[in-house]
Amino acid sequence: MFDKFREECGVVAIYGHSEAAKLAYLGLHALQHRGQESAGVASSDGQLLRLHKAMGLVADIFNEEVLSRLPGSLAIGHTRYSTTGDSALLNAQPIRVECNKGSIALAHNGNLVNAADIRKRFERQGSIFQTTSDSEIIVHLIAQSRESSLEEAIADALRRVEGAFSVVMLTPDHVFAARDPRGFRPLAMGRIPATASTRETVVFASETCAFDLIGATYERDVKPGEMVVAGPEGVHSRFYASPLPTTNCIFEHVYFSRPDSLVFGRPVQESRELMGRQLAREAPIDADIVVPVPDSGVTAAMGFALESGIPLQFGLIRNHYVGRTFIEPEQRVRDFGVKLKLNPVRNVLQGKRVILIDDSIVRGTTSRKIVRMIRDAGAKEVHMRISCPPTISPCYYGVDTPTREQLIGANKSVPEICEYIGADTLSYLSLEGLRRACGEETEETSFCSSCYTGKYPTNWVDVHQIQAAEVK
Ligand code: SF4
Repeated sequence: MFDKFREECGVVAIYGHSEAAKLAYLGLHALQHRGQESAGVASSDGQLLRLHKAMGLVADIFNEEVLSRLPGSLAIGHTRYSTTGDSALLNAQPIRVECNKGSIALAHNGNLVNAADIRKRFERQGSIFQTTSDSEIIVHLIAQSRESSLEEAIADALRRVEGAFSVVMLTPDHVFAARDPRGFRPLAMGRIPATASTRETVVFASETCAFDLIGATYERDVKPGEMVVAGPEGVHSRFYASPLPTTNCIFEHVYFSRPDSLVFGRPVQESRELMGRQLAREAPIDADIVVPVPDSGVTAAMGFALESGIPLQFGLIRNHYVGRTFIEPEQRVRDFGVKLKLNPVRNVLQGKRVILIDDSIVRGTTSRKIVRMIRDAGAKEVHMRISCPPTISPCYYGVDTPTREQLIGANKSVPEICEYIGADTLSYLSLEGLRRACGEETEETSFCSSCYTGKYPTNWVDVHQIQAAEVK
């Protein structure tokens, strides 16, 4: 219903807890915003890998009975919004396979840009794939690796894939967690301290909000090119590949991640507030109130209001209890889809000059409806401010985006977009301002911003070919 880039996937892994599957399930619950199509948990009791996955939301898929069928002290979990492969149960994760290296389950957040090439090569050699998802490539590469130990085979497989991957893997007695050498997608490591009756638990998750729910403390991020292994011998880490120039996804800070998470070691809430403050400095305007588009525009709006001294007012209220499909009356209601989710507060907006803050404009269709809704509620002026630059190019690193043809920022100038959405003025945060708001860039924290620049950091993907195919 909203015109947004769609979150990719969330992963979680637990090593060394008697209720590992339950903790993985709780972690997935905290990561639900990263994917709502399917979810799954695989567990191990030291010998057998068990798996449950289904389409739907985490809370609907798991119950006491299902979790009781996932015993053991090791578990991994995945929540998915499809990026590659269709969204059928077939492609839900974790993926579990039996191969010459034993039983392995894998959960992946990201997108492998050379998956199609590798798959074609394997299929020519007679390999049969169970899914249409790019993630399965990794398990085939592990199975076909000439390395004799599983750890070396995983390292070998990860060196052969290109693109974005934060992966967690489960074998009967080990948990592996690894990030691609550019570190596109986040992956944090934490621990639940030992008690008198329990030993220390090692946990991994896409975002630290998952740690808060299970009582884990954030320790550090898995580094780009690093693989951390937790097993009976303890925890050890190695670099399976030399890190490449870091390209953390800056959109995690703009929109994807929860504001209560630390992502790439930095509080998302702080980044968003600074985006709002910077936006107020770059694009000031005389107005009566600052109104966020809930929920993702709230923190940036708070920053804008604090910096500009213009009061923040909740002029739009979001209904959180909207399901996937709703029956529209035969006599169609204008902007029905948006009205289901957002409702204007007339007494707040009436006669006011409104600064409306949102985190992005993708196609422009939703922004147009929201501006109209605010005007219909009596606002005198609507000044739209966006807490990132115009999105002009699709993402190939694990985010579902429209084609370049559909991105309004790729096809219209800012004044043209302003006219299309019906605002009085429109300004975006500059890329430099966004980078500054997300923290000082160092070798370890520098950002991917390809969807704002059209310049891609990976070599192997032929982006122009993909774009040409999209246009067809
Ligand atoms: Fe993130 Fe955009 Fe880069 Fe994709 S292209 S990884 S959404 S910054």
